This record gives sequence, C-alpha cells and structure tokens, in this order.
Amino acid sequence: MSLIVQKYGGSSVSDAESIKRVAKRIVATRRAGNDVVVAVSAMGDTTDDLLDLAHQVAPIPEPRELDMLLTAGERISMALLAMAIENLGHDARSFTGSQAGMITDAQHGAARIVDVTPVRVREALDEGAIAIVAGFQGFNRGTGDITTLGRGGSDTTAVALAAALDADICEIYTDVDGVFTADPRVVHRARKLDRVTSEEMLELAASGAKVLYIRAVEYARRHGVTLHVRSSFNNNEGTIVYNPTEPGRDENGVPVEEPIIAGVAHDLTEAKITVVGVPDIPGKAAQIFNIVAKSGANIDMIVQNVSAAATGLTDISFTLPKSDAQAVLTALTVERDQVGFSTLQHDDQIGKLSLVGAGMRTNVGVSAQLFTALFEAGINIEMISTSEIRISVVTRADMLNDAVRAVHSAFGLDGEAEAVVYAGTGR
Ligand code: ADP
Ligand code: ASP
Ligand code: MG
Repeated sequence: MSLIVQKYGGSSVSDAESIKRVAKRIVATRRAGNDVVVAVSAMGDTTDDLLDLAHQVAPIPEPRELDMLLTAGERISMALLAMAIENLGHDARSFTGSQAGMITDAQHGAARIVDVTPVRVREALDEGAIAIVAGFQGFNRGTGDITTLGRGGSDTTAVALAAALDADICEIYTDVDGVFTADPRVVHRARKLDRVTSEEMLELAASGAKVLYIRAVEYARRHGVTLHVRSSFNNNEGTIVYNPTEPGRDENGVPVEEPIIAGVAHDLTEAKITVVGVPDIPGKAAQIFNIVAKSGANIDMIVQNVSAAATGLTDISFTLPKSDAQAVLTALTVERDQVGFSTLQHDDQIGKLSLVGAGMRTNVGVSAQLFTALFEAGINIEMISTSEIRISVVTRADMLNDAVRAVHSAFGLDGEAEAVVYAGTGR
C-alpha cells in the first residue's frame, strides 16, 4: 500500500461539477489500494475575490484579520470536497491547517512552516478514511492565531504533509499538463518537460513560473520529496521534479542527460525604483539599502550607474515587488536629506524575463545568444542580473510577452503541438 499526497489547485475545484470530478479521481486512487491525503486550494479565484473585498473595507487590512478572511476560502473547498467523496460512498474527513498540525511562525501573510504534527490525519488514514487538508494555512503556537503561507501556499501544504507522512509521492494537480518550457498562456508552442531538477524548478518558480510556489520547491528539496506536477483534467503523465543524488544523475543515482536550458519564465509583479543623484562616496549604498530593508521590502536586482565625474553623483536603481514600492518610496523620502540624493523615480511598467538551465554552468555563449535574440526582436534591455544557472533581464512590461516568445524560439524550445490550458483565468 502506498501513501499518496495529492494537491488540487483552485482552477481544479472552481465549481460544484469540478469538485465532483476531483472527488471521483481521489476515490479511484483510494480504491486502487492507496492511502490518500489531499491538500486543497480555495475554489477558482476565491482568494483574489476575498482580497479585493478586504481592500474595499480597508486600504491596508489588518494582517491578522486578512489571514482569518483568506483561510475561509480553503475551508469552503475542503468541506465540499469531503462531502462529495462521502457522497460517492467513501469515508472522508476534512481538517483545517491547525487541525492538521501545520505549525508556523507568526508572520501573517507569509508564514513559514516550523513543524508538522499530522496526528489527526494519521488517525483518519488508520481508520480507512481519506484525509482532506485545507491548503495555504497554519497556526502559530505563540500567538494562538491562524496564519497563511503566502500566495500559492497550498503547494507548500502538500509538500509539508508528504514529508511529515513520508509519502511515496506528492502529486500537484493543476490546469496544465505539467511544467512547461514557458507559461503556455504566453507561448503556445511551449513544451512539457518530462523531468526537471528541483534546482532549476526553484529558479523558474523564483522568476515567476507560478505553476509551483517557490517555498514548496524549497521544502521539497530540503526534505527529499519528489513532486509530480500534472493535470487534473486527464490521466497524462506530468512533470517529475526531482532531487539529483549528484550532478547528471536522477533521484535514484541513474545517469540522465540534462538539456542546457530548462525554460523561460516571466514576471510582471515587480516595479523599479531609481534613486537619482546619489553622492558617489563610500557608504551611500549601505545607507539606502538599510532604509529599504527596514521597510520590509525584498529587493531583487540592483544597478548602479557609473558616476558622471563632473558632478560626482550617481543613480542607483533596484527592483522589488510592486506591493512593496509605496512603503519604500515613503521611507526613502523621509531620509532624503540624510542620504543626500536629489529625486526618486518609480516605474511600475517593467517586466522581467529569466532564462534558466543547469547547462549554463558548462556552456559558453548563452548570454550572447539571449541578448542577440532580444536585439533581433527589437526589445531593449534595461537591467541584467545572473546567477549560476539563470540570466534575467528587465524590459518594458508591454514587450515582455514578445520577448518571451522570441527567446523561447531562439533557444529551440518550441514544441510540435499546441500546449493546452484546461481551465483557470490565469489571474
Ligand atoms: P493552481 O490553481 O492549480 O494552483 P496556478 O494558476 O497557481 O494553478 O498555476 C498554474 C498556472 O501556472 C498555469 O495555468 C500557467 O498559466 C502558469 N505557468 C507559468 N509558468 C508555467 C510553466 N513554466 N509551466 C506550466 N505552467 C506555468
Ligand atoms: N488559495 C491560495 C491562493 O490563491 C493558495 C493556493 O491556491 O495555493 O494563493
Ligand atoms: Mg498555484
């Protein structure tokens, strides 16, 4: 008997019909002789709708109350799914995050899992029931409050349950056939990857490929959980996200051939702030980024211009989540005289393209090929950053989709068939 953890995303449980379809699939897995634990997301765009509502009653909602509100979404879907399974004649029991033992730190909106004690989930399994756990939520022992794990956090719930229960596999069911070489909503000829390393998946997720949440991939890497990302709309094999035992070998130590490029990711959620006219003397960058850090913003790329010798002034630009920009602008404005810069510029019309592949370590010329592809497509590059296995560039937001398609083709990633998106609004 295997223990299988299955996670169903919002697009797979968007209405009553979908919930019944997913329930059938879960029951079939149980009847095939497996123990089944399910992590479920809120129905469709429920979380976004609840967020909109919150912002209608308060511009900056109280974080504790926001988590209370948002966790209601998963509570609805978990109960409905359990009812649908019961209706098919199988025992099912739903649990909130705290009932399932998802213990987190106290960081509302982006809590980290610190411990998982799924005692009641185990009991349900031992009694032959299917356990349904509300995704995306946890409980902090210190404050006694409910927390959420960050947008897309149901993936983390599934992975954490799989690790704690020592599951044989963690299946992530979504509205596409797996992890593709690019978002199929943007690149119609994107190809499904049969396998991808967790290292590459981490970079793709960090760069905007929301098919998996970055913290879920991190957790899976740390705890040695293998993921199978697949569609809930058919029985096709999806993508295995694995942890190599060593470079060039799979999770079982068998040699595998890795392509140079795994894929192209894109991200429209960042903004750029430029601090204009900064005195070009030691300590200024430290001063600026200390102010930024205090405001709690998570910065991504940084570029400092060569100072104009005549003026002794330089400009420093950095990117950060759009949602953090206002707080940073306010914090910097307060300290303007102290730092001695002249003005601030805020640009929320940027896009980021990232090319990811472990083969970049050993292949020269990848950046040259990337910049050439962008040049030939008439796309201007505004910022560049790299890691060992990733190159990212900032472009105008309205050019980003064209840039992704051009780069995807230039690296020979286009597939034969059209990639299918089965559901979801892409929101
Ligand atoms: P779920 O509701 O199942 O959690 P998400 O919307 O969070 O689904 O993630 C699935 C979506 O991720 C797909 O519909 C697709 O548009 C998007 N996506 C972005 N990049 C990729 C990629 N490289 N491969 C597959 N899907 C991707
Ligand atoms: N419902 C939450 C969200 O929309 C969590 C998830 O779907 O993974 O972010
Ligand atoms: Mg998701």
